[in-house]
Amino acid sequence: MVDKKWQENGYPARLEERLPDNVVRCHLSPRNCRIRPGQHGFCMVRANRDGRLVSLNYGRSVHATEETIETEAVFHYEPGARILSMGNIGCMLNCDYCHNWKTSQARYVEDKDVFYYTPQEVIDIAKRHEIDVISWTYNDPVVWHEFVTETAALAKEAGIVNLYKSAFFISERAIEELIPVIDIFSISIKSIDPKYYRKITKGWLEPVLDGTEQVYRAGKHVEVSTLMVTDLSDNEQTAHDIGRFVLDRLGPEVPTHFVRFHPDYKMTNTIRTPVERLEAARRVGLDMGLRHVYLGNVYDTESTDTRCYNCGELQITRYGLNAQILAVTAEGTCAKCGADANIRRVPGGGRRPATVDDLPTTHEFDTATFDWYGDVRALHVQVRNDSSQPQEVYHRRTHQGTRSNPWSVVNLQPGESYRFIAAKSEVDERGVAVAVPPSCTSSLHQVFDRAHFPTTTADSGSLNADVTPLPLFEARG
Ligand code: SF4
Repeated sequence: MVDKKWQENGYPARLEERLPDNVVRCHLSPRNCRIRPGQHGFCMVRANRDGRLVSLNYGRSVHATEETIETEAVFHYEPGARILSMGNIGCMLNCDYCHNWKTSQARYVEDKDVFYYTPQEVIDIAKRHEIDVISWTYNDPVVWHEFVTETAALAKEAGIVNLYKSAFFISERAIEELIPVIDIFSISIKSIDPKYYRKITKGWLEPVLDGTEQVYRAGKHVEVSTLMVTDLSDNEQTAHDIGRFVLDRLGPEVPTHFVRFHPDYKMTNTIRTPVERLEAARRVGLDMGLRHVYLGNVYDTESTDTRCYNCGELQITRYGLNAQILAVTAEGTCAKCGADANIRRVPGGGRRPATVDDLPTTHEFDTATFDWYGDVRALHVQVRNDSSQPQEVYHRRTHQGTRSNPWSVVNLQPGESYRFIAAKSEVDERGVAVAVPPSCTSSLHQVFDRAHFPTTTADSGSLNADVTPLPLFEARG
């Protein structure tokens, strides 16, 4: 039996239209759901309570998680920056292959996976951990619009950048409310085929394209990505159509990502996207005149690096979710030829956590290691300080042979729960090691591809007691 305590209290919703007989219409997404008293909209997180439209997921979130900006298919905004990812519950779409269906489809959400935050608490987490970017992500941020706009406004006042990662099936009026507070839009355009949208996503195409153009014209930093679904959309026609849209309605400088798919939700009877199809799609985009075309969820390829479109200089190298800036100025231009690289920098951004070479010898730690295997090359580590004193948690990557990295330090306040990603960052890397004081509770969660939020929570036990199993997909072809 799935509890629904998180749905008990409604929060006054924006973009409401009141109709006769206590009926309301929601103007947040293009569905414009007409909702009778006691019922909810398609997304199941906006409802009619006594003739008024309410949000049922205000401040109701999956666990706040520290990741890197590359997780969000954002390659041209402070590469390597740490972000605080905030995801919630519900979605205005229902894609057959959703990677986050346990949180995006509200009927599957369990109370144990729901965490409660106020806007100020989100800001406090980011500041405490010296994170300069908040990312509104995972299921889809559209459906907790009130919490996003209010928190993003507070973040902006605090000097924090806001990133919006979305399928962008959203109304023009709602976008107008986002534009003053959101700095970066990473937009997932599933296809340029209207039939595909209707059949696979249960939405429709035109508002997505119009909305993407709307934020681009507003001067926002925009990157677009397309999930290349095996035998469905992983072809050169998709690449051509996306390229045409970017060139005709945005600009050649807009980074464009072709993302590898893994079987999930209702589409499990298939395989991962063959990498050579992705490489072919990338070549189509480059040949059409796009300046920056990348592959996503793909390792061991130069197609995730950034080169100057003008002189060919290697500007940024990437491995997985990690980036290293080689030849980009603080102004976002090529360090060799001076051409505009369309790379925006966070003022004073790119802060990294403190590191130490050795664990302190003054107290004990429980240490656990996890070795990367198959396609599992990232973990979420969740830790909670159960003591009344501040505590330090340590983590580092392990390598083949004797080489060892320094330990990164995570500071936890008394009672604080924190979650962060550890992702494979080098070819010869073996896995990750985590060291926690005995007074902390912790768990590991395997992450399968970027922007995936594993839902198994850590509420008891040791590091090895809560590893979320995921199928090991082998790429063919
Ligand atoms: S957000 Fe979209 S799906 Fe949800 S109630 Fe409003 S119009 Fe309907």
